Amino acid sequence: MASVRLKGVYKRYPGGVTAVSDFNLDIEDKEFIVLVGPSGCGKTTTLRMIAGLEEVTEGEIYIGDKLVNDVPPKDRDIAMVFQNYALYPHMTVFENMAFGLKLRKFPKDEIKRRVHEAAKILGIEHLLDRKPKALSGGQRQRVALGRAIVREPKVFLMDEPLSNLDAKLRVQMRAELSKLHKRLGTTFIYVTHDQTEAMTMGTRIVVMKDGFIQQVDTPQVLYEQPANLFVAGFIGSPQMNFIEARVEQKDKNLYVVFGNNAIKLPEGKAKKVEELGYVGKEVIMGIRPEDLHDEEIFLQTAQDAVVDADVDVVEMLGSETLLYVVVDGLNLIARVDPRSKAKSGDRIKLAFDVNRIHLFDKETEKAIV
Ligand code: ATP
Repeated sequence: MASVRLKGVYKRYPGGVTAVSDFNLDIEDKEFIVLVGPSGCGKTTTLRMIAGLEEVTEGEIYIGDKLVNDVPPKDRDIAMVFQNYALYPHMTVFENMAFGLKLRKFPKDEIKRRVHEAAKILGIEHLLDRKPKALSGGQRQRVALGRAIVREPKVFLMDEPLSNLDAKLRVQMRAELSKLHKRLGTTFIYVTHDQTEAMTMGTRIVVMKDGFIQQVDTPQVLYEQPANLFVAGFIGSPQMNFIEARVEQKDKNLYVVFGNNAIKLPEGKAKKVEELGYVGKEVIMGIRPEDLHDEEIFLQTAQDAVVDADVDVVEMLGSETLLYVVVDGLNLIARVDPRSKAKSGDRIKLAFDVNRIHLFDKETEKAIV
């Protein structure tokens, strides 16, 4: 079993930095877990504690059923792939991949079998006799992965392994890593600051900030039901629009009011907002760019959810168009159909998809609905 469990884990560095606080997480066997968050949020420290490269200040880490706090890295049955995957320049690809097994005194036949098998999985069999300098960036990255695969570890730990590749190759390697994960059927724990990378590969994602877990869930749930303002803003690109507003009641309906605009909340959301005591209170409304519509069909059906917007910039991306607009002095982004006729300088109407409105508590920043 390659489950990994962290229980109340803290890391305090000498000098007073608490890099990781009260970290609790059950990673199941065969999961592809991604730790994501801005620079300095404690992702690498967490991964290094799982690897045994960093001591745990407080709490427990289990791999399978075994408490590993005091188990040295080499005995943890894990393999780690780093951002700087230095290959030995004077060795061939085969020798680079075989190196760790040789050190561990594996028999020659076994080394050969494992290297060839890993090379086959990664599609680099034809490169085994080459030296690293005769490889492309993507091929080198595959060799680095190969070095980890030959160990046949229970758990793969990866720290930003794609960040040295160019954008196109990164996209390609993302898909390859997902396939590799399925094929190997082992647990992957992957660290990145790139939310797109996290969203495309993780079966579950752990969003971190300032050493604390903010939310753990599938990409879809994180996107659709962010637990707080930070997760809402961090996941999704362009990011969710945030609007300071107030909840007001009129004729038994609830409205989210900002400037001269009032957006009517649908029944389900209104009920919850009322139950939780937010009528008359200040809140932060969140709406994703794709939930603002400029098409006639939406404008006609949207009741009490249409605002006037001045188009500032139009960004045509081919499959979609981004409208940078100003509504009542606020800068918002709408992701609309590429056939949209909106031009810079136009005054247009935008409809809010009210079922997709998020409201956050202004003080705690936690999601209300
Ligand atoms: P990045 O994406 O920039 O790598 P990260 O999320 O991986 O960031 P960590 O490297 O885990 O963050 O660092 C978390 C915090 O701990 C940071 O404030 C960092 O400065 C601090 N830190 C990391 N290593 C040490 C160390 N050896 N001694 C003291 N403080 C450290």
